[in-house]
Amino acid sequence: MTTPTTGHCIFCDIIHGAAEVSMCYEDSTALAFMDIQPVNPGHTLVVPRQHYESFLDLPRDLGMHLFDVAMQLGPVIRRVSGMEGMNLIVSSGATAGQDVYHFHIHLIPRCAGDGFDVPLPFAGSTMPDRTVLDAVAARIIASLRDPARRTPKHTPALV
Ligand code: AMP
Ligand code: ZN
Repeated sequence: MTTPTTGHCIFCDIIHGAAEVSMCYEDSTALAFMDIQPVNPGHTLVVPRQHYESFLDLPRDLGMHLFDVAMQLGPVIRRVSGMEGMNLIVSSGATAGQDVYHFHIHLIPRCAGDGFDVPLPFAGSTMPDRTVLDAVAARIIASLRDPARRTPKHTPALV
């Protein structure tokens, strides 16, 4: 878990028919609906029917399906919204800015001057030496290869 579970989930309410929604896609495990406070018209959320808090809690096959739904909807939202650009955003955990703790993928159509921003590359960081990037990559590779090291007790965290 990346965040503490709270008792109430507005997306579960929507899924169980207990809250207003403007639905644009449904299947047996996923749905998509219009964000109530859209960045731009067409801003859509892709959501699993089952409650999982975040990206890091989500079963892999379900995550793949949700991304597939996003892939289906992306070109349609672009056509309907008439906007060429699009951001796909997933925020997992409070430190990443997640507000609703039921996993969701934002599909945000973008147009010039809309005032929204995903400020990458991050102006607040300096470019590390290549050896530092290589060392981090090596740690990820080692951890992928050796599941026992996925939750290392003795390896210091990166930050
Ligand atoms: P996040 O910060 O990624 O957790 O974003 C949560 C998103 O859910 C925000 O963009 C909200 O506008 C949206 N949201 C919250 N409540 C509702 C609701 N009842 N129906 C549709 N979208 C919602
Ligand atoms: Zn939920």
